[in-house]
Amino acid sequence: MRNAPRPHCVKRALLVLLLVLAAGAGSRPSRADRSVPPDLPAADVTRLTEGARLLFDEGKLVPGDRSERLARAVPAAAQAESLHSYDAIHYRLDVTPSRTSNLISGTMTLDLNVVDPGITQIDLFDEGLNILATRVNGVARTFSVVSGKLLIPVCQGGDCPSHGSGDPLQVAVDYTASPPTIGFYYYPRNSYTMAEPYDGRYWWPSYDLPSDKATLDVYATSPDSNVCVSNGLLLSVTPGAPGTTVYHWQETHPIATYLVAVTVGNFWQWTQMAGSLPILHNVFPEDSTKAKFDFANVPSMISVYSNRWGPYAFDKYGQVAVTPFSFGGMEHQTMTTINRSWVRGDRGQETGVAHELAHQWWGDMVTLVDFRDVWLNEGFASYGECEWREDFYGAAAYASYVQSQMTSALNSDNNLRYALYDPPSANLFGNTIYMKGSVVLHMLRRVLGDAAFFAGMQLYGQRYQYGNATTRDFQHAMEDASGQPLDWYFDEWVFDKGLPTYNWTWQSAPAGPDRRTVAVTIRQNQANAPFFRMPVEFRVQRGALPDTFVTVTNQALPIETVAFDVEGASVTNVVFDPRNSIYKRISQSAVDVPEPVPGTPIALTVGPNPSRSPVQVSVRLAAATNLPIEVTIYDAAGRAVQELGPSRAGLAALRLEWDLRDRDGRRVAPGLYFVQARAGTSHDEQSVVVTR
Ligand SMILES: [Zn+2]
Repeated sequence: MRNAPRPHCVKRALLVLLLVLAAGAGSRPSRADRSVPPDLPAADVTRLTEGARLLFDEGKLVPGDRSERLARAVPAAAQAESLHSYDAIHYRLDVTPSRTSNLISGTMTLDLNVVDPGITQIDLFDEGLNILATRVNGVARTFSVVSGKLLIPVCQGGDCPSHGSGDPLQVAVDYTASPPTIGFYYYPRNSYTMAEPYDGRYWWPSYDLPSDKATLDVYATSPDSNVCVSNGLLLSVTPGAPGTTVYHWQETHPIATYLVAVTVGNFWQWTQMAGSLPILHNVFPEDSTKAKFDFANVPSMISVYSNRWGPYAFDKYGQVAVTPFSFGGMEHQTMTTINRSWVRGDRGQETGVAHELAHQWWGDMVTLVDFRDVWLNEGFASYGECEWREDFYGAAAYASYVQSQMTSALNSDNNLRYALYDPPSANLFGNTIYMKGSVVLHMLRRVLGDAAFFAGMQLYGQRYQYGNATTRDFQHAMEDASGQPLDWYFDEWVFDKGLPTYNWTWQSAPAGPDRRTVAVTIRQNQANAPFFRMPVEFRVQRGALPDTFVTVTNQALPIETVAFDVEGASVTNVVFDPRNSIYKRISQSAVDVPEPVPGTPIALTVGPNPSRSPVQVSVRLAAATNLPIEVTIYDAAGRAVQELGPSRAGLAALRLEWDLRDRDGRRVAPGLYFVQARAGTSHDEQSVVVTR
């Protein structure tokens, strides 16, 4: 059989599968009759693999007393939840997204707990909604709409339910919405919602800020010919009015309003499994073959992220491909919406798939308190792309991907410089947020080392799971995991803007038998940015000896010289930041140009220049020296290509010839070269252009 299954069969098969999965936990209580389902106990949360569970339970890599950390974590997460007069606990949304117009209508029922006993009205965000009726605890209320808020009085006409701090209230709103392509979108092949950051209020009334997460039941009515997908698990599919079907989806883990999504269309459905976790893909029937190829690696991606960050925290994952879509993908909790153009049959958008999946941890499981911290979403998901590439394709693929993100961030920085924290509103989803945000995590990993970095990521995820966090919360998790204060790092890379522009030089001098001192001078020339404190790694090349790596801490200073000793009779080259651990500009090209230093003056002449034939090199010292005179040729990338010395000691002048050949005897390529003469701490340098 090569035909795609008929939608109805697919629908039924899916329902059976998901119902079995929902019931499979056995001990999990039935929540169908409760208006406010409790969050699952931690032991019931679906864990991806035994390996991942072990990783979690052992608190792997987390130093110190884990139970004490967890105890501290609970109030922190709780405090971030709800920053207004009530705490949204559970939304029930009964909606009909039209398949023939931009109309979405229904009833929203919110169970809330009062925070402020002085509360007089329940406020819900409302942009252009047509409100038909409101109720508090089932009793009608006269409402008003003021400045984008629907205001429903707690007490009215002698009906005044108890509303002390912690008291539950239930508010219900009947409404219709016809938003002009904001929040809810109708097109011939699909209808869907898309609300980040603040468009939820255009299609349903809610407390539409990410700091107040709540659980969710969606009852969505769809034509029989279509299917409906949403957040959480599918609990039932039942007949509605003639020609319609009602889908009941339930998300038992807290969800931010911008992550709520309802999508309806004639989708072909395909369920993969990652261990016991179902992954439900929804694409148009004619895209099914492509989708099977494009999404084959999603279970492995979940495994990669679970091992690195902690177990996948929800009951299912899924993707639904829609068209047209003004975005690439949107990480709706457990049901990412992607652009149909990502379904290509060549895995060409696999990076995007990995990005949206990464958001299930960073954005969905741990949600920003507000959008000033948007880099906690987008920088993290973009770094997830790097981590996925590292795991699937190896260290070189990781390095080149980080490099491409750095280059992209630099290009954006050239246009407009702003800090990751609290970006200009027009740049809330700017390239800097994604690319520099990712690079800041890459650098932090290099600063802390892999063990502390991943321990910190897991601690952060564990501490704020199903809650909200800020940049400082993330910083403190990293500090606790690493034992290092990190104010300096977050202040300069997240709360301030820009990047360092280094101008650096090196020189070396004898430091005893078979030992040399390397002195590195680092200038920071950046404008419109702070001076950066950073550990800087150098690769020191020592002729025939293997390269050695040295890390020094460059302080937040305009100029600093640091020195270190290395074994060996000569230092032939020094490379700045060889593993690309710093987001930076280098104003001087990679050529390592030693600075002149006081001492015996040394003069170098080189000619002819430009030259296509051997170059004469003349070195003259002001006085005879017992030091050998070393002459080294560097190419434009700073690589030593040939040595002409050392001479015997005791000379005041030296004439040498460079035959335009490298160490292997091959003629060098045409281009710019540097000739460096050195005697002890004195040196001189001249450039020469080699022509054909
Ligand atoms: Zn994203």
